[in-house]
Amino acid sequence: MSLNIHSISPSKVIRGKGAWDKSIESITKLCKRPLILGRSNSTKRLRISFLNDLISKGIQAFSFELKHDCCELDIQNAYQFSKENNCDGIIAAGGGKVLDAGKLIADLLCISCITVPLSASTCAGWTALSNIYTPDGKYIKDKTLRRCPNLLIFDHNIVRAAPKRTLASGIADAIAKWYESCLTSSTSQDGFVQQAVQMARVLRDQLFLNGYKAFQDPLSNSWETVAEGCALTAGIIGGLGGARCRTAAAHPIHNGLTQLSYKNKPMHGELVGFGLLIQLYLEEKNSNSQLPKQAKSQLIDFLSQLNIPISIDSIYLKNPTPKELQRACRFACKDNSDIHKLPFKINEKDLLEALQSYQTLPTISKIRFK
Ligand SMILES: [Zn+2]
Repeated sequence: MSLNIHSISPSKVIRGKGAWDKSIESITKLCKRPLILGRSNSTKRLRISFLNDLISKGIQAFSFELKHDCCELDIQNAYQFSKENNCDGIIAAGGGKVLDAGKLIADLLCISCITVPLSASTCAGWTALSNIYTPDGKYIKDKTLRRCPNLLIFDHNIVRAAPKRTLASGIADAIAKWYESCLTSSTSQDGFVQQAVQMARVLRDQLFLNGYKAFQDPLSNSWETVAEGCALTAGIIGGLGGARCRTAAAHPIHNGLTQLSYKNKPMHGELVGFGLLIQLYLEEKNSNSQLPKQAKSQLIDFLSQLNIPISIDSIYLKNPTPKELQRACRFACKDNSDIHKLPFKINEKDLLEALQSYQTLPTISKIRFK
């Protein structure tokens, strides 16, 4: 076997009700002058309370607001601010893009990294990877970091209060792990990869069993299983299985779709979920197996229950013309794209056809919506 280097997990994970309050001691062991990083107005009060909690314990904490998606400009500004104030740790508190920015800044400065996901919308709080976007959210590239965060704080009381849409997005992103990893890694001889794929299967089953209940009722046991599955377990799968376990077509299609303009900006998992349906269409076209078709019907049904977009009409593009869609396909099919890890050849034209097959709501969901 060739040499493999893994960043599998944060050094410490504190999870459950009141996890933030219980974490202060661990934070003080990691840093004395942390920078709390965040972005949206909706999380501002929470971040101010984090700042006050730390200051009241005698920690010289600072706060910094990101302005855009995880982009070079924001990263540079926050990097500069951290340096000028001699910060020795980053506490990234927010959704996937804030967590990605925080991890990258801590990596660049070689200082402690603490992630506090404020929703279960992605597993970015866990992983040693940051996705870089343009300021207005167009995907550029991902960057592998030296290690996973030193500390991940997953406070159920906080995450439970996040908008339902974030959990739905997290479910779509996490369920994609199975469909993507089994396609790209099922022939791997590496035990770690095989185990990661199996873990993705178990996670998929749990999401199918508990996802809708969790979405409906944040106070249910299902919510705990599902929220932690999306924000934590999904991260282990990538850590254990490595890059090959992460993506097949759903994520590259997401990356292509982020290049377009939207009336309402979709969340990461919403586009990944839609990308997954397109991936299954491609599989159906390129194999004799009935399984992709069945999986597609099952997923259309499941994702529509969670209000995840399942048609071009429902992703609210500003300009949903074939020419515009082609732009997304061109990006997704670039030479270095992971889409070429699919076990069959794919080009822009095939992808456009697959995308256009979802122009309107698929029949199965029209029946359900009656
Ligand atoms: Zn993702």
